[in-house]
Amino acid sequence: MFKKVLIANRGEIAIRIHRACREMGIQTVAIHSEADENALHVKMANESVCIGPAQADKSYLNIPRIMAAAELTDAEAIHPGYGFLSENAKFASIVEELGFTFIGPEARHIEIMGDKVQALDYVRELGIPTIPGSDGEVKNPEHAVEIGKKIGFPVIVKAAAGGGGRGMKVAHSESALRTAFTVASTEAKAAFGDGRVFIEKFLQNPRHIEIQVLCDKHGNVATLGERDCSLQRRHQKVIEESPSPAITQKQRDELCEVVRNACAKMNYLGAGTFEFLYEDGHFYFIEMNTRVQVEHPITEMVTGVDIVREQIRVAAGEKLNISKMAPKLRGHSIECRITAENSETFLPSPGHVTDYHPPSGPGVRVDSCLYTDYHVSPYYDPMIAKVITHGATRDEAIAKMQRALEETVIEGIDTTVPLHRKLIATNAFKTGEYTIHTLEKFLEEGRL
Ligand code: ADP
Repeated sequence: MFKKVLIANRGEIAIRIHRACREMGIQTVAIHSEADENALHVKMANESVCIGPAQADKSYLNIPRIMAAAELTDAEAIHPGYGFLSENAKFASIVEELGFTFIGPEARHIEIMGDKVQALDYVRELGIPTIPGSDGEVKNPEHAVEIGKKIGFPVIVKAAAGGGGRGMKVAHSESALRTAFTVASTEAKAAFGDGRVFIEKFLQNPRHIEIQVLCDKHGNVATLGERDCSLQRRHQKVIEESPSPAITQKQRDELCEVVRNACAKMNYLGAGTFEFLYEDGHFYFIEMNTRVQVEHPITEMVTGVDIVREQIRVAAGEKLNISKMAPKLRGHSIECRITAENSETFLPSPGHVTDYHPPSGPGVRVDSCLYTDYHVSPYYDPMIAKVITHGATRDEAIAKMQRALEETVIEGIDTTVPLHRKLIATNAFKTGEYTIHTLEKFLEEGRL
């Protein structure tokens, strides 16, 4: 096992990785920007290295500086967390070429899945169903219209290099599609340096359901059930739960089997997530994330598997520590992502946290980088805490979440705690009858 791991990230996920390392007796190295000098991930780590100014491209995305920090501190492996360099195939290759272990999949898998056009082709070959669409890149507005007519409107234009809910445009008519094509490809070029787009049928009432996998170098593949991440704003997840209130054990087993077979054929390594849209009894693959996900804790709560620990173990060549490759889900878990944004306007609210009191008690877990006097930086992702609950039943997990959110105190900045309190109390959430459009609809109607 590694003696020392460098954590190439910040915020709650850097802390989460540090915790797994410490429980395994591994020393940790934190990297940080000048803005994060007093961050909790830096205070907790055994060693830390300042790698540059606040702007992410000069620090958390600065590969030479990160590699220098790893050399200087004699780290053996690098955990990239999520975001930043976690899905950068070049980074994964450099880490390995310089003699360190990348805690994640092989660079070739990161590369394939990072290009959605390539990823869809690749998984279709593996027998995974995808949404009817262009089956590849769409070259020009005329080509887009031809496909729109074939599959029927509405359609969604997506960036091949898209991520984080960005680079998607919905079109309900031929003329709207011409515009959507041009806008989407121009925006994709500006945001991702790659203007390639493709088209899918826009599903009207789907749920977002994803399967967590863990694979080792010995050919073992574990599927850890699903997460339902349908409550979204601007295609970004806001609340997640596991198991999904919308699928049966039979559907779960079948989908997990499809995914397990695909992973085995791919020779995948480490943690990964296969994301699907689910509508009218059918699952359609949308993308694979080749890293740990923000919402991994709910899977940990219902399976008892420490996903980050397993990531580290399999990267070190050990066998998966999961007795059954598809463990039975135990109880129910919910996660609320708390961001430093105004609950009504969603305007960012960086600044000084004057008081922080996290919820606790039975069945409550909080993964957060906050402390009283912490300064929320405007430079990074606004997510500051994840409140996670676990109950024997879904109702119990909801009751615990209501209680946990009542207890949560974050003063000095605006947060989305009030939004979560209201959302959890809606009938749609209580009954589990919601789709990817529910939250946006509630916000439009002023119901939250
Ligand atoms: P990203 O990589 O930016 O997260 P995804 O492809 O994972 O993009 O999609 C994010 C979200 O966008 C999905 O969870 C869903 O809400 C919405 N979405 C994506 N494709 C479709 C589609 N074909 N129809 C309807 N909604 C979609």
